[in-house]
Amino acid sequence: MDDKEYEDSDDIYNEGILLLQRRDDADLKKAVELLSGACSLGHIPAKRVVGLLYLDGIGVEQDLRKAYDLISEAAAHLDPFAMYALGKMYEGGVGVEQNDREALYMFAFASEMGIPEAREDAERISARIAERRDRRLRSRPILNLEISDIDIEAVCCRKMFDAVMKGDIEVAERRNGTELIREGEDGFEVICSECPFCGKPVKRVSKNKIY
Ligand SMILES: [Zn+2]
Repeated sequence: MDDKEYEDSDDIYNEGILLLQRRDDADLKKAVELLSGACSLGHIPAKRVVGLLYLDGIGVEQDLRKAYDLISEAAAHLDPFAMYALGKMYEGGVGVEQNDREALYMFAFASEMGIPEAREDAERISARIAERRDRRLRSRPILNLEISDIDIEAVCCRKMFDAVMKGDIEVAERRNGTELIREGEDGFEVICSECPFCGKPVKRVSKNKIY
């Protein structure tokens, strides 16, 4: 790296960030060198920062693949800023295939971990997902209660249709996969195997099923 002695990867990272903030070319070059060094020592915030440099092509040639690899690695270690950045990448389809659900997951997590602007992003995507689901359900016949591993795909009766549209009944990720849940007075209850209104069984289908 250079002749200077560093205590540990935090030390290298901190020096790199200082240089990065100065924003002149020689410092930027040195900052990238130090931060990349911290990355190879497994420093998680350094991975996020270098990932962001690759994302924007600052101090390095833009490389979306490298950006994705580094930022998602930091996000996997629950670095909240990395999760937020990854959410933006998923939402925009930048360096990774567009995926609103992944984006929502990242924003929701980042928001819980104290990134205030992530909440608004989570709400926006959440509303978009719900809108798409509502449109889908309206265009499908009321026949069977069908859920995929990501959402409610079809409903069995008018009452269930109304409950889903109102958001009283939705799907939730559970340990054993997706389950239908109903918001009750004290938390939510899982609807195990049949419609509480008409008694039709819950069928599990592929999210790609054609109706
Ligand atoms: Zn029903």
